[in-house]
Amino acid sequence: MEMLKVQNLSVNYGYITALTNASIEVDKGEIITLIGSNGAGKTTMLMSISNLVQKNQGQIFFKEKNISKVPSHKIVKNGLCHVPEGRKIFPALTVYENLWLGTIGNQNIKKKDVQELVEKQYDLFPRLKERRNQGGGSLSGGEQQMLAIARGLMMDPDLIMLDEPSLGLAPIVVEEIFELILKIRDTGKTVLLIEQNAAMALSIADRGYVLQNGRIALQGKGIELLHNEDVKRLYLGAD
Ligand code: ATP
Repeated sequence: MEMLKVQNLSVNYGYITALTNASIEVDKGEIITLIGSNGAGKTTMLMSISNLVQKNQGQIFFKEKNISKVPSHKIVKNGLCHVPEGRKIFPALTVYENLWLGTIGNQNIKKKDVQELVEKQYDLFPRLKERRNQGGGSLSGGEQQMLAIARGLMMDPDLIMLDEPSLGLAPIVVEEIFELILKIRDTGKTVLLIEQNAAMALSIADRGYVLQNGRIALQGKGIELLHNEDVKRLYLGAD
């Protein structure tokens, strides 16, 4: 089943072109990654899907419904959650309070469901359970990233979009985050992942898209892109 379809998307910021005629598709249960250099337009793609930036052209379909003009907060309620780059957790609040805040604004989630959702996140992220009463600001970078993802999952979304979850983390922590992404998919979620760490992202993704200067330059199975000569040369640091 088709979860998300982005059709011929173009976005400009004033005279800067961020995306040109970009189309991607995500099926239910897939991990799809979008890779590309700095400024290629990856973040703009997610912001456009969440309707946080204005589109010049193009349509977004989520679960076959045209959401191109749906306000951002309603898109989240429909089951599409966006974990932005930079974590943006509340440092003065505890881990539990940060998680609880993830459900604010969704009246569909009843008070009694909140605890069940928190427990689900604790199962997935045992480290957060251990630190549930600790201030968000006192967590390590990797734990803060886990908290940001878990807070997104509190909306119980069908599709979770992750913007650079590995940014600034030590290699061993990066591996942990990627393993968690696989586990999240195993709980029945669909994942759209943006990454500069192309090698790791392609190795866990079912399919990937390569963005170059706002255009989709290449697409294919994760494993195929991983072995593609152009991808290797441009994004995987091979000679
Ligand atoms: P990065 O990995 O560095 O975050 P990215 O692939 O996510 O890069 P975007 O952040 O989508 O790329 O940026 C695409 C282009 O749009 C870049 O040239 C960027 O400088 C420009 N851009 C992004 N946001 C704005 C903005 N608010 N105003 C003007 N230009 C912007």
